[in-house]
Amino acid sequence: MKKLINAGKGFFGEFGGCFLPDELVMLMEDLSYEFGKASEDEDFIRELDYYFKNYAGRPSPLYFAQNLTEKAGGAAIFLKREDLNHLGAHKINNALGQVLLAKKMGKRKIVAETGAGQHGVAVSAVSALMGMECIIFMGEIDRKRQELNVFRMESMGAKVVSACSGQKTLKEAVDEAIGYYIENCNDTYYLLGSAVGPHPYPSMVKFFQSVIGREAKQQILKQRGRLPEHITACVGGGSNALGLFAEFLENESVQITAVEPSGRGLTPGNHAATLTLGSAGFIHGYKCLLLQDDKGDISDVYSISPGLDYPGVSPELSELTRIGRINVTTASDDDAVRAFRLLSKTEGIIPALESSHAIYAGMKIASQMKKTESIIINLSGRGDKDVQTVMNYSETA
Ligand SMILES: *Cc1c(COP(=O)(O)O)cnc(C)c1O
Repeated sequence: MKKLINAGKGFFGEFGGCFLPDELVMLMEDLSYEFGKASEDEDFIRELDYYFKNYAGRPSPLYFAQNLTEKAGGAAIFLKREDLNHLGAHKINNALGQVLLAKKMGKRKIVAETGAGQHGVAVSAVSALMGMECIIFMGEIDRKRQELNVFRMESMGAKVVSACSGQKTLKEAVDEAIGYYIENCNDTYYLLGSAVGPHPYPSMVKFFQSVIGREAKQQILKQRGRLPEHITACVGGGSNALGLFAEFLENESVQITAVEPSGRGLTPGNHAATLTLGSAGFIHGYKCLLLQDDKGDISDVYSISPGLDYPGVSPELSELTRIGRINVTTASDDDAVRAFRLLSKTEGIIPALESSHAIYAGMKIASQMKKTESIIINLSGRGDKDVQTVMNYSETA
């Protein structure tokens, strides 16, 4: 067992922190300092805004989904169209922010891990843009399952390295990427893709994603003249959710709902409903609500969505759940596939299966609200990557 050091920063109640071996704690403290400086540097923010606008295509529209609203029969439903960003998801916001930071820190190489490949693709693209060397670790099995994304990454100049130990999936990719980072930390930056991990990553990823909520608030005030009554988003690690929620946390009149995958059902190994069923524990250098068994071993997780099956979750969302500022609900594989088909048919928008969880829950919430009220659903990504999965899916109920 490695010696654990608590760097003592980045806590949300009891959750968060930085529980890592010495050599990594020092790197995290350095990163924390550099991020703090950059986040208050006007030139850095101006450059980030430039790339948000001219490369990612921001601001993304806040779209009034009239047909979906009529179908639900309650509140006006607005979709925050993160699916219209470059590469089709919110992940580009974080990749742009962190690669810019890496450049500012004088790093030359970017290392990241990827499971389904979406994060790897975003990191590869921004690395190409900024002239950084890019190394993506991917489990050998994931690599075979995600050939198209491997081709995308390699086309953009990334080196994709197979992780061949253990189960040969995301966890092994993380282990090997961290190993590479420790050995090459002088010129290498580790780019984490969600609002998880040791401090400062959860705060940093939230900072770069919070553009979603800032835009959404301005847009709804312009279109409706007042705040929405409700906002909702799906939760894997929690970055698109916190990105939307951050700007509304202080507005007590706004109800907030996080949607987790209940997969094939809320029995062990069949879901990834961490905020719903998790208990406090440690994973990847931080404390959060965690899916674990009686002995404290981390549980197997499952969801039809490759972006949602993680046994840990954002420490900030863990705390917001504990204090009751956010509500948590679930959507199953069946629910998500139905919502995927429904949004495609009613609005001509094919959502990512991750986002489809939020569409399902958002419609249900909308149907119980007044017609004069409104709800914003974060459409975190487009569904082109999921069409094969939906084609092959047969509903269980
Ligand atoms: C990766 C991904 C997610 C899940 O990640 P979060 O950090 O929870 O946002 C959700 N939606 C899409 C489209 C994704 O690609």
